[in-house]
Amino acid sequence: MKKWVLLAVMALFLAMPVVFWAQTLSGGLPLGVYLYDAGRLLALVGFVFVFFQYVFSSKVRWLERGIGLDKLFGIHRTSGLIGLTLILIHPIPLFLSDIVQGYAPSISPLKLVGVVSLLIFVVAAGSAILYGRLRLKYETWKAIHWASYVALPLGFLHSLLLGSDLVRPPLRTFWIVLAALYVAIVLYKLWNRVRVRRHPFQVAAVVQETHDTWSLYFEGKRLDYEPGQFLIVNLIRDGRVSEPHPFTISSSPTRDRLSISVKSVGDFTSTIGHTKTTDRAYIDAPYGAFSFVEHDAPSLVFVAGGIGITPFMSMLRYMHDRELERSVVLIWGNKTERDIAFRDELDDMAAEMLSFQVVHVMSNQEDWPGEKGYVDAAKLQRYMGSVENPQVFVCGPPVMMTKVIQSLRGLGVPKRRIHYERFALR
Ligand SMILES: Cc1cc2nc3c(=O)[nH]c(=O)nc-3n(C[C@H](O)[C@H](O)[C@H](O)COP(=O)(O)OP(=O)(O)OC[C@H]3O[C@@H](n4cnc5c(N)ncnc54)[C@H](O)[C@@H]3O)c2cc1C
Repeated sequence: MKKWVLLAVMALFLAMPVVFWAQTLSGGLPLGVYLYDAGRLLALVGFVFVFFQYVFSSKVRWLERGIGLDKLFGIHRTSGLIGLTLILIHPIPLFLSDIVQGYAPSISPLKLVGVVSLLIFVVAAGSAILYGRLRLKYETWKAIHWASYVALPLGFLHSLLLGSDLVRPPLRTFWIVLAALYVAIVLYKLWNRVRVRRHPFQVAAVVQETHDTWSLYFEGKRLDYEPGQFLIVNLIRDGRVSEPHPFTISSSPTRDRLSISVKSVGDFTSTIGHTKTTDRAYIDAPYGAFSFVEHDAPSLVFVAGGIGITPFMSMLRYMHDRELERSVVLIWGNKTERDIAFRDELDDMAAEMLSFQVVHVMSNQEDWPGEKGYVDAAKLQRYMGSVENPQVFVCGPPVMMTKVIQSLRGLGVPKRRIHYERFALR
């Protein structure tokens, strides 16, 4: 789905309660009633915002197709905060309204259900915001985030049984549609888990690419994917199933074996080299929209940082195997030459493919004969200056991506021609 279509659907859903709410307003009423109306509006709009967070993070494939999970998760972060803020403050005008109208504010079991739901949302959002500062483990953060799947049903219960707007048919029906969609999302997630676990893949080879990077090759059911997309894998080693981890598919759909190439950075990835060919894997794929086939053009510029090379390996292997005629410049930053994976293969491709140039940039090797330092505006200008209207793809560490994208904008590359993928799903 296109991003604008999804946002338009969200805007339509948000407009529904506003329209119904507006129909129940009557002008010239005392302050207490204005406050009450404001509280109702905040609750209704906030709830629809919060509902959409389950849509954005659902990982439903046809939804993320054309947008990319990392971008959907980005929308989730921003709109989730807006929704949470609205539902967090909605009790304030309701409470003030009671006071202004001379009623003693009361607490009922249904209000308590709302408070519990709110608390769960606050903890889930708070742990996401403070993830880095609290040095939370990814798995801990994820377990906390999963709790919000309990919070929404509690929110439905609270609003359906307490909300005065939801007594009447139009909005009540709308709320029931939202509840049905929520159930559909949960069922989809369960079905997808069963589907993935029905056909485990076999680890066919484990290849060390550099001092800290390994490729795993898998055999199993044929997967339909575009070069540059990613998978989510649970490795089954010695009978133990790992947590799911996302990795770009570094192989090309033109080849028989599926592969990922993994850099050791933490608890799980540091054990990747211990994987054996007797091990198996559950693979959920494909995801993502970071592929030149989505934005085809005769000229392509790929800017990679470190392990951010993996989507480009997939795309280059695909172009090579399909003998596609494209002009490609790959600018790849690494610390030192011992961090360069796939060096021989890239050299072979550069020799075989008519218009393919690889530029290695080393940030930490004084005796490197080629480009040194970081991938900056001057280097981008030097190597892509003569390329006419390229589609530019960027993948690497967050700081490098931000700097490269800024430099590209400074060089006049329009936003619509810059594509990037974050190696983070939060
Ligand atoms: C779309 C995408 C494509 C990726 N492609 C590659 C690739 O081709 N090669 C490669 O080496 N790395 C890739 N990564 C990064 C890779 O997923 C993480 O490095 C890995 O999950 C870290 O796990 P860890 O336990 O070793 O590290 P930790 O030290 O536990 O975590 C390091 C960071 O990785 C992220 N992370 C950790 N666990 C998970 C998880 N279960 N799911 C999602 N993110 C997690 C968190 O942001 C965390 O802060 C990709 C990530 C994404 C989102």
